[in-house]
Amino acid sequence: MQSKDRIHFEGISAEEFRNRAGMDVSEFLELALPKAREVRDEAYAPYSGFRVGAALLVEDGQIFCGANVENASYGLAICAERSAATAAVSRGSRGFKAIAIVGADGVGTAPCGTCRQFLSEFNAQLPVVYATGEGYTVTAVDRLLPDAFGPASFSAER
Ligand SMILES: [Zn+2]
Repeated sequence: MQSKDRIHFEGISAEEFRNRAGMDVSEFLELALPKAREVRDEAYAPYSGFRVGAALLVEDGQIFCGANVENASYGLAICAERSAATAAVSRGSRGFKAIAIVGADGVGTAPCGTCRQFLSEFNAQLPVVYATGEGYTVTAVDRLLPDAFGPASFSAER
């Protein structure tokens, strides 16, 4: 994180972030951003050229990373956020604590609708930090995907 980067909180306070993630947003970004940038550089994006990296903190302190992977059959592309989430789940880590998402310098990387739904499955209140082009927005999945359909939807009284 560079000092000129602006941090904007949207629908979640710094205290709420700390309570949910288990660390301050500045500490999280120091840990997560270098890892997200590292995997971003490994993205397979020959069609869009839009490279994204994500770093997902889980409850035991590990950080799982993922980059976007495109395909000649366009609809098969997978985003960085889902790459990171599947890496974590594949190692038995379902306790998602926070995710950071970065693209190229100066490019915004708000998560797509599919990734909002995908992340909501494991933590509907997951803190999300994404690049805006001028800095970072700190928010949460429940802010990005209100009234989400999720695991609890199956057990609701009818
Ligand atoms: Zn996505």
